[in-house]
Amino acid sequence: MPGGVNSPVRAFKSVGGQPIFMDSVKGSHMWDIDGNEYIDYVGSWGPAIIGHADDEVLEALAETMKKGTSFGSPCLLEAVLAEMVISAVPSIEMVRFVNSGTEACMGVLRLARTFTGREKIIKFEGCYHGHADPFLVKAGSGVATLGLPDSPGVPKATTSGTLTAPYNDIAAVESLFNSNEGEIAAIILEPAVGNSGFITPKPDFLEAIRRLTKENGALLIFDEVMTGFRLSYGGAQEYFGITPDLTTLGKVIGGGLPVGAYGGRREIMEMVAPAGPMYQAGTLSGNPLAMTAGIQTLKRLKAPGTYEYLDRITRELVQGILNAGKKTGHAICGGHIRGMFGFFFTEGPVHNFDDAKKSDAAKFVRFYQGMLREGVYFAPSQFEAGFTSLAHSPEDIQKTVAAAENVLSKI
Ligand code: PMP
Repeated sequence: MPGGVNSPVRAFKSVGGQPIFMDSVKGSHMWDIDGNEYIDYVGSWGPAIIGHADDEVLEALAETMKKGTSFGSPCLLEAVLAEMVISAVPSIEMVRFVNSGTEACMGVLRLARTFTGREKIIKFEGCYHGHADPFLVKAGSGVATLGLPDSPGVPKATTSGTLTAPYNDIAAVESLFNSNEGEIAAIILEPAVGNSGFITPKPDFLEAIRRLTKENGALLIFDEVMTGFRLSYGGAQEYFGITPDLTTLGKVIGGGLPVGAYGGRREIMEMVAPAGPMYQAGTLSGNPLAMTAGIQTLKRLKAPGTYEYLDRITRELVQGILNAGKKTGHAICGGHIRGMFGFFFTEGPVHNFDDAKKSDAAKFVRFYQGMLREGVYFAPSQFEAGFTSLAHSPEDIQKTVAAAENVLSKI
């Protein structure tokens, strides 16, 4: 396997040392193949929001599996999950399931171009929308971690319609609309960023983007692969009260199995084949196992108090780490929304990827390695968000904060 891994950030390139091979996961914990235990804040990069290997999810999967793993024809479970997604996410009136966030973003881009008859898109520096060619421009964590500005092998023609602006910079977006009048199909963005580290939108940013897209006849796409069902049950769009035209989902809605989805207003979604002319398909799309894990995960999330719990423990975690950092004399800033968080070794504030890059990378490596030795597993990159779950206990948080105090006092 190239670099020994099947997805680049797992290779520990930016934190040094060897990647850890995991053997099993349960709740908020992971065990490596040498038997070491870790408190996990990666959560399989987002899906594990109710905790790893949840008993009810496993039982439901076992029941589904008795009937087979893939039908390649419609099944009722697809309809159940579709209804759950449609009733939860404000912008979604129709949905198409795919197998990854990358696929969802590829599909939604083709759809925005189909619907508007325009080709250009605006994306933001440091936002990641999967690894399809048109998005591999200033794409955040994975490429930043490897120090690649873009990727070789991406033809210029496929990115020539990709315009970029700094996150949280409305003037830059206005200027792109002015210099490309009538040509921009859509703006795509992470409504809270997880792929430059964790960055929140400034108070008026999403509202201004919504207004500008409307004024210019462009569609607004929220890439909620990370934030969907994480910032709230209705995603970032519910949390911030801004409704996009189209939305992509992934991670949580597959409950740890491979899933993505895109959805939006009916008149736009009806352009997707076979209802409409835009082609997009998938051998394993909507397969019963992924649908089952998603359904069980969403059922659990829907219970009262879940997001309040995520908010409380994540606040304690982030405040604990920030306090420990300040007490030990480090420049540090950070924040959280519900079960998503991040921190940087810089005074801040961090509003975009350039700000994030001011974080002291060498210090992050020392912190990272120290925390690993203490049995705490954060994402092995300064430019990734962290995730908590319903399975993280107050004791997990206290242990993590105590470990951080210890490590920060020594680095
Ligand atoms: N969009 C966002 C916002 C993401 O965070 C990711 C993955 N981290 C993707 C798209 C791509 O998803 P996948 O890795 O499932 O292809």
